[in-house]
Amino acid sequence: MRLLFLLLLISAQSFGQTDKYTLLKPARVFDGVEMHDNWIVLVKNDTIVAAGPQQFKLPAGTTIIELPGKTLMPGLIEGHSHLLLHPYNETKWEDQVLKESRAERMLRAGNHAKATVLAGFTMVRDLGTEGAEYDDVGLKKAIEKGLIIGPRMQVVTKAIVARGTYAPRPASSDIDFHQGAAEVGNVGEMQSEVRLQISKGADLIKLYADYRWGKSHEAMPTFTVEEMKAAVEIAQSGGRQVVAHATSVEGMKRAIAAGVYTIEHGDQGTLEVFKLMKEKGIAYCPTLAASDAYEQYGGWNKASGIIPASIQQKKKSFQAALAAGVTIVMGGDVGVFTQGDNAREMIMMVEYGMTPIDVLKSATSVNATVFGVADKLGFIKPGLLADLIAVDGDPSKNIGAVKAVGFVMLGGKVIKN
Ligand SMILES: [Zn+2]
Repeated sequence: MRLLFLLLLISAQSFGQTDKYTLLKPARVFDGVEMHDNWIVLVKNDTIVAAGPQQFKLPAGTTIIELPGKTLMPGLIEGHSHLLLHPYNETKWEDQVLKESRAERMLRAGNHAKATVLAGFTMVRDLGTEGAEYDDVGLKKAIEKGLIIGPRMQVVTKAIVARGTYAPRPASSDIDFHQGAAEVGNVGEMQSEVRLQISKGADLIKLYADYRWGKSHEAMPTFTVEEMKAAVEIAQSGGRQVVAHATSVEGMKRAIAAGVYTIEHGDQGTLEVFKLMKEKGIAYCPTLAASDAYEQYGGWNKASGIIPASIQQKKKSFQAALAAGVTIVMGGDVGVFTQGDNAREMIMMVEYGMTPIDVLKSATSVNATVFGVADKLGFIKPGLLADLIAVDGDPSKNIGAVKAVGFVMLGGKVIKN
């Protein structure tokens, strides 16, 4: 009996695991570039091995998943998330940073990760823990180990800010508050901070090129070009990109001059600035949904039909970006608003003038390309990882369809159907 068990064990080990094939049969396939009717997609283990209109010769034992009426797409990529934050109308940002324990914040982040991936966002570029130290690195590792389900992550650890310009700010100069980002005061400190963050697990570096530290709390530039260049030089030496938060024209211009890779928000961006970004190959992440949420938290009744000046400006800058032809990455600053509602940004991009097919590209192939993962993600083609989702209807005709995610496959494993 014992010998038989041993023989079985040896034979199981020597033959290894058999390959697992899955055929997906949706109504149409968006491959990251265009829509194809009547395509089917074959997955072997965690990899896409065939995609096209032809009837494949199916390996024996292939599992067939019918997805009638649905559009199969690459898993969506969120370009600007904060998995360690939750909506500010639930708890103000300052109170999340100062009054919530890191244990609470991490447990919330676990829930956020699950909500994100089940909403069809199979990768996030997470742009800062906002006071939760390096916990994004721990979260990413827990997901990779399979402890919880969540998206693939690129993480920045702490955003880097100029000393004294960020938040929370105490009312008294006698008190120091724990900050929502890492503070540096000169080129040397910038260099040390970038190196420290990379050693702690940062995949990319985030700088605040401006912040609301003007005399009337208006956005003013924080770093000199020289300081930001120092960060770019070191990050690039280590194969990492630098992204910049910038809302003012001067902040954006300095970030461009320093050679950052993407600019986040760009609220005051002009045609001239966006043309300069296009010329330098710098992509733009608009975060329309966050601006929309901020105004509503501040009391804007959207149903009134009255459009606040900040929203009018946001729309104007987005349209200038479209006119300039700068590369636009899809990223909503989710965390400011509900985790898992990432598609809110995609819907707003269409509302503000981008075509649905361009928004779909932005959230898949464009994001994958800009974030340096296009060899694995963002397209449906042989050789890429099988991070695939299916939505009801045709999102190139009605972008709202991206909210109706009925099927999610992550690395070849079905996690929602
Ligand atoms: Zn953000």
